[in-house]
Amino acid sequence: MKAALCTRFRAPLEIAEITLAPPRQGEVEVTLAACAICHSDLHFIEGAWGGTLPAVYGHEAAGIVTGPGDGVSDARIGQRVLVTLIRACGTCRCCSDGRPVICEYAADSASPLALPDGTPVTQGMKTGAFAEKLVVDASQLAPLPADIALDMAALLACGVITGTGAVFKTAAMPAVAAALVIGTGGVGLNTIQGACIAGAGRNIAMDVAPEKLQAARDFGATDGVLASDPDAQAQIRAPTAGRGADHVFVTMGAVAA
Ligand SMILES: [Zn+2]
Ligand SMILES: [Zn+2]
Repeated sequence: MKAALCTRFRAPLEIAEITLAPPRQGEVEVTLAACAICHSDLHFIEGAWGGTLPAVYGHEAAGIVTGPGDGVSDARIGQRVLVTLIRACGTCRCCSDGRPVICEYAADSASPLALPDGTPVTQGMKTGAFAEKLVVDASQLAPLPADIALDMAALLACGVITGTGAVFKTAAMPAVAAALVIGTGGVGLNTIQGACIAGAGRNIAMDVAPEKLQAARDFGATDGVLASDPDAQAQIRAPTAGRGADHVFVTMGAVAA
């Protein structure tokens, strides 16, 4: 199959032919329809997080099941699925607790990817979705309803759950609280959406780009503050009766924020 291969950090990905092993016990092969680009992929490509090359990144995907392995009962050929990087046993203490992200037993397994000469290829973030197909653990899939387009659904795999999860799980933000979301990219917009669903009293978006603040309003922000404004702090205090925000979500990795 073809994949966008990272052979050197800080260099463009190369479209290359690589091999994909068939699904083993408990694994599923998915033919991909869409994969978003997350900033984590860019960090890896830039070499910021290290790792072994060559590698295939991409972890925010959706597609169609084309090969369930042995022992997989809940994925059938033709099923539309979301593919995430969350590999979980489903039964350990953390999984039972509703925290599959820190599953105690979801060990890395051997990568199903290799170059034609047999050289192993790293399966980035246990997924490797910048490719025509992938093979992942069945726990990394979630079934999708028929009425959601796969390119939109792909966003659910990382950006949406990261942004809304920060509100619902990490902050457990109560209704009426004032939220300030710094950075309104993919994760930030979904944090704003989550705060909106949670019933935020004020839902303040902050960014350096004015056009992004408009997009933030479309996702439910009540206020937009340009981070470069000298009176940005006053603009946050004004709609919160002088208190400032109850919960602040910094959604990008910039120290200045
Ligand atoms: Zn991501
Ligand atoms: Zn587990």
